[in-house]
Amino acid sequence: MTEAWWPPEGEGGDRPRPAGAGSVRVRVPAKINLYLGVGPLRGDGYHEVSTVYHAISLYDELTARRGDTLTLTMEGEGAGELPLDESNLIMRAARELADYAGVRAHARLHLRKQIPLAGGLAGGSADAAATLVACDALWGTGLSREELAVIAGRIGSDVPFLVHGGTALGTGRGEAVSPVLARAGSWHWVVTLADGGLATPEVYAQIDRMRAAGEAPRSVDAPDDLLAALRQRDPAVLGAALGNDLQPAALALWPALGKTLSAGLEAGALAAIVSGSGPSCVFLARDRPGAEKLAADLAAAGVCRAARTAHGPVAGARIV
Ligand code: ATP
Repeated sequence: MTEAWWPPEGEGGDRPRPAGAGSVRVRVPAKINLYLGVGPLRGDGYHEVSTVYHAISLYDELTARRGDTLTLTMEGEGAGELPLDESNLIMRAARELADYAGVRAHARLHLRKQIPLAGGLAGGSADAAATLVACDALWGTGLSREELAVIAGRIGSDVPFLVHGGTALGTGRGEAVSPVLARAGSWHWVVTLADGGLATPEVYAQIDRMRAAGEAPRSVDAPDDLLAALRQRDPAVLGAALGNDLQPAALALWPALGKTLSAGLEAGALAAIVSGSGPSCVFLARDRPGAEKLAADLAAAGVCRAARTAHGPVAGARIV
């Protein structure tokens, strides 16, 4: 079942800006993978994936102001640790957009970060998506969301999804996305943050090693059960359909995550999985009060650095 992107373009807080607006603020969500099927390694070094992305209400915020050069400052998660030079995905996104649109990449960018670094929540990709939306408005380049998603695909596999948001099927290396559900804010989650991060390429290398040694199952073919579960309202049914092929690899590299997952299940979570490549974990709750209690229990159990509640799906990068 494919549906239109949610919310429709121009809604959900996106207001048209006059060319050359003085300041633009964009909010962008983290993503979790409700299902992540990892296929074979391709000739280009990427794995073929079949995934269901889901945008949740854990946000970074990017402000773009006029400037004489391109500069980046930040506060929050990862400040002092994350390089703010040309290696930052924000700088790459600004330059890709400027090249595409034939304008000069001049802006003062400031990031307020809540999504942890290397957490399996695609924070860097989210920031890149926010930059495309913010600079498009600041520079008055007026690109459509589809055009921004094409540029996004050159920056990283998860970036096109974060331009759109909602819930979407991702194929190829994850960059080919199509919407699967238009209903807003239906599901309640808890996300645990870990002390430190896992490098995504290392987690993929680990799953390759484990599969070669027969220690991890091959991927399931298609996320059919998950897509069916999304069409009904019972969180227990959705919980039973969640799946992540990278989980055995993340657990092998970070064994303590096993305790985090079991603590969530003991505290009443309907399901518990590693988020993407980890080490963040996601837990499904029955409703908002259930998520609040679960987050408090997980924080008290000492099995994570922090536990946050979130709902989904939410919109992708949007002007606020
Ligand atoms: P994914 O789930 O997409 O694999 P992740 O959540 O595990 O990503 P990110 O925080 O998105 O990890 O980024 C991984 C790496 O990308 C970081 O360790 C950092 O070196 C680099 N990076 C570049 N720009 C950014 C940014 N703006 N925010 C976060 N990381 C960035």
